[in-house]
Amino acid sequence: MLSTLPSVEWTVDSLARARRMAEEFHREFRGEPELWARAPGRVDLMGSHTDYNLGFVLTLPISKDTWIAARHRDDGIVRLHSLNLEATDQFRLDQINRAAGSKWRNYVRGVPAILQQEGLKLNGCDAVVHSTVPLESGLSSSAALECAVATIFEELGGWHLSPQRKAQLCQKAENQFAGVSCGILDQYSACLGLDGCALVLDCRDLSTRTIHVAESIRIVICNTMSPRRLSGGEYARRRSECEQGASLLGVNALRDLPPSVLASRRKELSEVVARRCEFIVDESARVELLAQALSDDDRASIASLCAASFAGARDLYEIVSPAMETMMKCMLAAPGILGARQAGAGFGGCMVALVDAAQTGAFRASVIDSYSRSTQTAPEVWPVVGARGAEAFHL
Ligand code: ADP
Ligand code: MG
Repeated sequence: MLSTLPSVEWTVDSLARARRMAEEFHREFRGEPELWARAPGRVDLMGSHTDYNLGFVLTLPISKDTWIAARHRDDGIVRLHSLNLEATDQFRLDQINRAAGSKWRNYVRGVPAILQQEGLKLNGCDAVVHSTVPLESGLSSSAALECAVATIFEELGGWHLSPQRKAQLCQKAENQFAGVSCGILDQYSACLGLDGCALVLDCRDLSTRTIHVAESIRIVICNTMSPRRLSGGEYARRRSECEQGASLLGVNALRDLPPSVLASRRKELSEVVARRCEFIVDESARVELLAQALSDDDRASIASLCAASFAGARDLYEIVSPAMETMMKCMLAAPGILGARQAGAGFGGCMVALVDAAQTGAFRASVIDSYSRSTQTAPEVWPVVGARGAEAFHL
């Protein structure tokens, strides 16, 4: 059954987007789509790399999202065209294989493969996907795609999963089928968002708490436009360094490591592993503090917490690229800045600024100007708001 609530703000842009997708659907498959679904990207406001350490994250599901327009088929075949990549995938539901040498197809195929493993009945479909989440930029276009795909299969199949379960199955799809050992943050953000809200996510018990950011503060994403280099291998290395630290200090996950124990037993760890642990322990503790500071519009705390997070990401966790350092300078020099830091896994991609709402336009103009002059690359700078989690919608 379709959700009866329209889920998107019907602006001129969203209507044009729907029209373009319907046209593309007609061009690829003839006829009209019957079902629509969407899922948001996300930006972490605090909590880099804390999810796989079972700590806390302050995440904002954002108003950049992935849409799918689909029509059911009776023959068990799935055809899905990506407008972003101008490529089409086709597979049979009774024979879902990994696509060799084609990354994006595995993000799509993994979802029905895992849903079927759960015993859920799936229907074939023709579908067009379009995302306004930039791909591979740290805003989690992969989870937005997975969660939108899962939502389309829900609607086609006439069954429904809880948002939590949907997120876990999409994470499993990314882990097992796409081969990316991501934590739960991205899929939880894509499934559990609420209009206008950020979420504190406890990555151990998977509970979430809603945070209302003060209206006087705007969240602005600043894209360095520099591709994330080495992120796959470095990401895996960070994970294993954290696991080493946890196991040497006798805790299940770094979540369980009190700062005092880390301080007193630091010498038992290699210098690198000690730095990684220090970052995670401090970063996870900053989550609750920033959530409070954003609700209270406590500007001094916002500035110091974001500065500490970026310094730790640079010096302790070593996930800051030269482009990110340049962007950080540009953000900090712009009018209205309250605090700025990395986003996603780091190594390039997007960063996030917290800005005095009244100065958002001046902030944006300043960052575009200074970053363009410093790097000869025009950055994308977008104010974003909290968005609802994955859902079907009517046109
Ligand atoms: P991020 O999730 O930070 O954007 P990832 O590397 O985890 O970066 O995932 C990005 C990948 O997800 C893309 O390279 C592509 O394979 C896939 N993907 C995401 N959105 C789409 C889309 N709209 N169309 C096709 N593939 C997509
Ligand atoms: Mg991703």
